[in-house]
Amino acid sequence: MLSENDGVITPHSASKIAHDSSHEQAVKTEEPESTVSKSAAIILVLAIGAHNFFEGIAFGLQRELGSAGQLAAGILIHKTAAAVSLGGAFARSGYTTRQIILFLGIFSLIAPIGIIIGMQIASSNKLVDVIF
Ligand SMILES: [Zn+2]
Repeated sequence: MLSENDGVITPHSASKIAHDSSHEQAVKTEEPESTVSKSAAIILVLAIGAHNFFEGIAFGLQRELGSAGQLAAGILIHKTAAAVSLGGAFARSGYTTRQIILFLGIFSLIAPIGIIIGMQIASSNKLVDVIF
């Protein structure tokens, strides 16, 4: 029985070698200098993400259009600053562009998830109001 460890290059192992070398090359070219550690960038995502989650819940709980609009304006203004600081930190973290897009994609989903949860809580409270 032959396995890949016997040095026989099968089509599968050949593509694996090609993939590994192309990955190494990508890392070398896309990592010129990293002044922010990768773990610091992740901690920043988790901290701002937790903040966004509760902000989303607060927005989802709004029952009146006026107060929801005021809160939306406040969120939009300071969310811009958060997004710029997060993007700047990731740009200097040494992550590849694909990894940064993945992290920020997940990050951008946190607030909408909080809004949906807040709306669920708000609608369940209304249901409780109708019953009692
Ligand atoms: Zn906020």
